[in-house]
Amino acid sequence: MHELGVLNSMVHTIERIVKEQNVTAVHKLVIEVGELSGIVPRYLEQSWPAASYKTFMEETKLELIVIPGIVKCKDCGRVFNAVYSDLNCPDCGSNDMEILEGNDLMIKEIVCN
Ligand SMILES: [Zn+2]
Repeated sequence: MHELGVLNSMVHTIERIVKEQNVTAVHKLVIEVGELSGIVPRYLEQSWPAASYKTFMEETKLELIVIPGIVKCKDCGRVFNAVYSDLNCPDCGSNDMEILEGNDLMIKEIVCN
């Protein structure tokens, strides 16, 4: 589970950003998690208290927006919603997919007090 490491580096990144803006506290952090990013939203939530502990984001609320994993089958062209563990085309059974959406993890919004 690498969610904790992901959050740790995110906290550092955000710290740099907000310091430039002279902000000392962040009220809420909104993260978009793609279903195909390999990051498990539930693990992100569970890791947040540890990742933010003793940092300037200790009081920050974490909000997750899950982005559906949309893929296109390279063999038959079918576009469908896939999850990380199951990347097989429901029509032809191929697993050769082009990911159209849901491959990223990104900071959507940093809400400051
Ligand atoms: Zn197919």
